[in-house]
Amino acid sequence: MAVLPEPVQNLINAFERLPGIGPKSASRLAFYLLRSQDDISQKLAEALLALKSSTSFCSVCYNITLSSRNVCEICSDSGRDASSICVVEEPLDVLVLERTGGFQGLYHVLHGVLSPIEGIGPADLKIAALMERIKDGKVREVIVATNPSMEGDATALYLRQQILPLGIRVTRLARGLPVGSDLEYADQNTLLRALAGRQELI
Ligand SMILES: [Zn+2]
Repeated sequence: MAVLPEPVQNLINAFERLPGIGPKSASRLAFYLLRSQDDISQKLAEALLALKSSTSFCSVCYNITLSSRNVCEICSDSGRDASSICVVEEPLDVLVLERTGGFQGLYHVLHGVLSPIEGIGPADLKIAALMERIKDGKVREVIVATNPSMEGDATALYLRQQILPLGIRVTRLARGLPVGSDLEYADQNTLLRALAGRQELI
């Protein structure tokens, strides 16, 4: 078998580390770039470099924001309903929920879920920051929108335990989202229904 030149093999190896990309797709992408116009590779390289250097996390909700701003656009929008906070696992979930147009409150990104098997405890997530946030007296409802998985459910129950004693309503997105799946794969109508039919976590 012919050995690929190192730069090509390096790119294939890098692509293979991405989620959802197997060896075949990785090779296809690398060879596509190899024969395509230079500006595609150039733009891709610039975008990749800027991804880390020009973004950071919002100091309030931990969603992704431009590194030039401390607080993200959603948190600084005075038109949003500050009495309601939707808790999600990842920044991508914010995007997915925003696309439904069905939620006008604010978000809080945990950056993961509780997982004893993987050794992820409350201190590894942005839970302390959430607790600080909701103590300001403005928040009346926390909607837990973690994924409908075992870890997502466990995280929801843990949050309920922490938040209910503060006299704040805790709800969970309605069932109807496929169990074990990610929010990002749900279609907009399913998500809108899940938001509208959210239930009290009791
Ligand atoms: Zn924010």
